[in-house]
Amino acid sequence: LRLPAPRRIKALAQDVVNKIAAGEIIVAPVHALKELIENAVDAGSTALEVVIKDGGLKLLQITDNGHGINKEDLPILCERFTTSKLKAFEDLTSIGTYGFRGEALASISHIAHLSVTTRTKESSCAWRANFADGKLASPKPGQNAEPKPIAGRPGTQITVEDLFYNVPSRRRAFRSASEEYTKILDLVGRYAVHCSGVSFSCKKHGASTTDVSVPVAAGTVDRIRQIHGSSVANELVALKAENDRWGFKCDGWISNANYSGKRTALLLFINHRSVESQAIKKSMEQTYAAFLPKGGHPFVYLSLDIEPQRVDVNVHPTKREVHFLNEDEIIAIICDEIRNSLSKVDTSRSFMTQS
Ligand code: ADP
Ligand code: MG
Repeated sequence: LRLPAPRRIKALAQDVVNKIAAGEIIVAPVHALKELIENAVDAGSTALEVVIKDGGLKLLQITDNGHGINKEDLPILCERFTTSKLKAFEDLTSIGTYGFRGEALASISHIAHLSVTTRTKESSCAWRANFADGKLASPKPGQNAEPKPIAGRPGTQITVEDLFYNVPSRRRAFRSASEEYTKILDLVGRYAVHCSGVSFSCKKHGASTTDVSVPVAAGTVDRIRQIHGSSVANELVALKAENDRWGFKCDGWISNANYSGKRTALLLFINHRSVESQAIKKSMEQTYAAFLPKGGHPFVYLSLDIEPQRVDVNVHPTKREVHFLNEDEIIAIICDEIRNSLSKVDTSRSFMTQS
């Protein structure tokens, strides 16, 4: 047997590595937007405006009124693993803020044209900077890359243009801008329901009407009404569950037995991050099956607080999938509580119709 000689091993070029890493975190425009919304909320914003062009592929812009970014930090803002939210490895297990890996802005800068305008309370003006491949970049050939002073209100505006412009295979994978826009509205709607005390708006670039609009003072039920309509909002019951042994607390609003949707709407937040969980979705559906007509589905908004050391958010850079200890026990307690609430509502209704 004649073996071929081994080929020499070489390091991939750094820009190739960065593009690959970025593509793993940001697969669609909605993933970039999620990171930007979480950053804006982390910054203590109470107003958040989103503008979208071509499903986010041409333009994603988010304007907040949060604490802003110091001018001195702008040069390293988009480097990988630069963050104001994590100092030591041990902090990883007790992190309270959404993002923590300092990778989002870096990733975006490798696969899009990124510009940032930001102003802190202390600053007398706003600063505008462009970024490419993790570094400050000049806005036009011949100009320098230094941040430029401009007029602006306190807060931060992040503009992402031409997402995946240098990843043609990824860009080709998008069938329609409207499909991407639907995902974006779904995401903005989720955060708009969850983030009490924050106003949200989302519209297409150049449009005069907004597709999501929630005022700052709206309570949770009104937020659900704005996003999902009165047919849902009029049939909600509050849900609360708590258990020290499993270290969790749950708050939410769930539809009662009068409401029956075409498909399950599950708005799930774990430690204030929007996440997906097939396990929780399935349990909700099984629980509601006893209360709803065949083919009917519930609306469920759940905000779960789990002791951070029990949650493993570090499984993947996208942080979309979250695992936590005693998942089954926690889900069982929540489902018991749902059954309790639903049967209570049932009795009061039949009581009322009888009397
Ligand atoms: P991470 O959120 O994991 O720290 P990011 O790349 O998302 O990493 O952001 C890097 C840093 O940039 C943040 O830690 C924060 O200090 C700053 N930052 C990003 N977006 C905003 C914003 N909208 N307002 C204020 N600071 C921001
Ligand atoms: Mg972040």
